Amino acid sequence: MSLEDLYREVIIDHYRSPRNRQPLLEPDASAEGVNPLCGDEVTVEVQRDEAGALSAISVRGQGCSISQSSASMMSDLVKGKSRAEIDDIVSKFKTMMDIEGDGADFIDPEHPGSVLGDLEALYGVRKFPVRIKCANLPWATLVEALDKTG
Ligand code: ZN
Repeated sequence: MSLEDLYREVIIDHYRSPRNRQPLLEPDASAEGVNPLCGDEVTVEVQRDEAGALSAISVRGQGCSISQSSASMMSDLVKGKSRAEIDDIVSKFKTMMDIEGDGADFIDPEHPGSVLGDLEALYGVRKFPVRIKCANLPWATLVEALDKTG
């Protein structure tokens, strides 16, 4: 299977079976993001433990496969992490998606998923700049929700 086929399957899997959709009973904060260009909507709820780590996250929404799979992959990757670790993941993801650079620093073709997990599957979206907004929507929404928790 080519890397491209593998990535396509990962995106479809997250789109069809999104992770962490269950609403939180007592979220510390939430945020809603909209990408009017594509009609994507994402709601992110977060809960942080006493040490500040993201103990629970809920991500729900509707829209294209890129926005919704990005949201699902993100929720898997950031759960349980500290704010500093999450900021690091956000920054790596942004760098991967930045078409000004080559973004390939986080891709090891011999070991797919070794740095950014399933998120690497979104690397190919760089070829379609209008869709990058779709991929970034859940991330901007997550940061907004986390910022509200202080
Ligand atoms: Zn979209």
